[in-house]
Amino acid sequence: MERVADPVEQATAVLSKYPLCDRCLGRLFAGLGRGLSNAERGRALKLSILMRIHAAALAGQAPGYAKEVLTNMGQTAEGLYEQLFGSRPERRACYICNDKLDEFLESTPEKVARAVREWGGTTFLVGASVDPEVVQREEKLKAEFKLALGESIKSEIKREVGKRAQALGLRVDFARPDVVVLVRFPSGDAEPQPRRLMISGVYRKLRRDLSLSPREPSLNPLTSRLLEMTQSSRVGIKGLVRDERGVRALGLGIPVTFLLGGSRVRSAPPEGTVIESEGASLEVKGDAAAVADEDLSRRVRVYRCVIYAEGASPAEVKLAAESLKGREARQKVMGRTVSGVVREAACNIVGDLVECLISLDEKLYVMELVSGRGSEPSLSGLLGKEATCVEADLLGVISLR
Ligand SMILES: [Zn+2]
Repeated sequence: MERVADPVEQATAVLSKYPLCDRCLGRLFAGLGRGLSNAERGRALKLSILMRIHAAALAGQAPGYAKEVLTNMGQTAEGLYEQLFGSRPERRACYICNDKLDEFLESTPEKVARAVREWGGTTFLVGASVDPEVVQREEKLKAEFKLALGESIKSEIKREVGKRAQALGLRVDFARPDVVVLVRFPSGDAEPQPRRLMISGVYRKLRRDLSLSPREPSLNPLTSRLLEMTQSSRVGIKGLVRDERGVRALGLGIPVTFLLGGSRVRSAPPEGTVIESEGASLEVKGDAAAVADEDLSRRVRVYRCVIYAEGASPAEVKLAAESLKGREARQKVMGRTVSGVVREAACNIVGDLVECLISLDEKLYVMELVSGRGSEPSLSGLLGKEATCVEADLLGVISLR
């Protein structure tokens, strides 16, 4: 049977070559013993080695490595060293952490707690960034002595700083922390990480003279309001294919997700909250992530259009408009060619005008479908006369399922 590696012997071999603090020595054996801190493991190993050396020395058989090992143990072995060699041992800093880790773990949790509170959060998660040279030294040591049960310094920092910051009244949340704080070793910096807040809901617009541009969302009063509310620095929109100027968005509205960058506010307003600004509103709804991932190619826009055609009777307009139902349309709008299906067209005659409910694939433009500019087929084309949409309202954007 293969001989099981003895941790005390392994630790002796390591300390005969490298000075290590209790914590860094213990971490190399982190898989051994339950419920111990690495500092306790390291101290236990040092004490075992110390007593072995002492016992051997009392029998007149102090091992050749005693001087080096006791020196590399640091403070723990000072007394015995003095007794055996008649002088004080040379002071050596920890090979891995340069004697910085204990002090770091003392002072950093308070910085983390301050950072979380400054960001207005109560739950947090610690991320760690460790100087690559420190990591390299630790890896090299594990490889040199074939130590397979160690833990990384990064993992110890995350765990210990997290545990101590919790003791300061914060709560760790692995799935959805209010703030992720990145701590850097050895500098001791603690930086809250910018995070992205998603707010999903239904967008509606009562004013015809405003529109929300998916490309420049920050120029709109509603998005300015969202930026201000969430103390964010950037905003993006998912789910808004277009918000036409001149067209109100009513009824079911447009499902959208606002992505707010660098947000200082930890969570979206509760479902049902209505955020309003200058004739536009967002009614907050459900799970932001699900809405943001929705397949836009399967959405349909439902419009109410009031149509007038010079030289055509309302009855002719109604007939022609309703014949668009089920037709596939190709449109060239703003240099792009799109195609889609007109799903529904149902009209009512109201005096000289015709009011139509038209639903069409989201890619298609309803104004062009009526006027004929770049659209085949179109209402103007079918009538042979110029038709215009006098007034249009978007009644909803819905998913085809
Ligand atoms: Zn150390």
